[in-house]
Amino acid sequence: MDFEDFLRKLTACRACPRLVEYRSSFPPGYWAKPVPPWGSGPIMVVGLAPAAHGGNRTGRMFTGDRSSQNLFKALYEAGLASRPYSISRDDGVELYGVYITSAVKCAPPGNKPTAEEVKNCSRWLREEVEIVKPRVVVALGRVAWRAVSEILGVRGEFRHGAVVEKDGVYLVGAYHPSPRNINTGRIAVEELAEVFKLAKKLAKE
Ligand code: SF4
Repeated sequence: MDFEDFLRKLTACRACPRLVEYRSSFPPGYWAKPVPPWGSGPIMVVGLAPAAHGGNRTGRMFTGDRSSQNLFKALYEAGLASRPYSISRDDGVELYGVYITSAVKCAPPGNKPTAEEVKNCSRWLREEVEIVKPRVVVALGRVAWRAVSEILGVRGEFRHGAVVEKDGVYLVGAYHPSPRNINTGRIAVEELAEVFKLAKKLAKE
């Protein structure tokens, strides 16, 4: 399957009834479908799920909400994005060797997908790994870490800065750049940028 086929099939997915109902509940003008990932490897960044008023509104993963702005400040600081923001599908931001996706492709109520929804959506993440063939996967948070670990067949506990490797593919853990994690001091944008600098180095090994 090529990437265009993948996007066509992904955006038609209705495997999770709760999320189909939720994504359909937004005003006209919202994307309100499974949210397309974007960019290209060798570094794959995997978040949790699109935000209701972020990717679910704009139609591009990590675009238009506060987590996205935190993520892009860090990517920009690490030299992996052309601008320190991501606000709309036509904002002209370029990614340098980075593919952005999430473990769950539809916005969940309260930003909390169920275990079954994560499991349902792992089929898409698995296909992405096969298509993109990343050298490094940065998992933003524990749910993304577990979903990617299962696909790559690696073992290791999630923590910020954790690195595990299998067959030349690295999995790197990082706290999610959500407003809550930033505001409570769990993670600073600069600390996330350090993880991306490490990912950049590992991708060149
Ligand atoms: Fe399909 Fe994933 Fe959306 Fe569930 S979350 S409906 S599996 S795209």
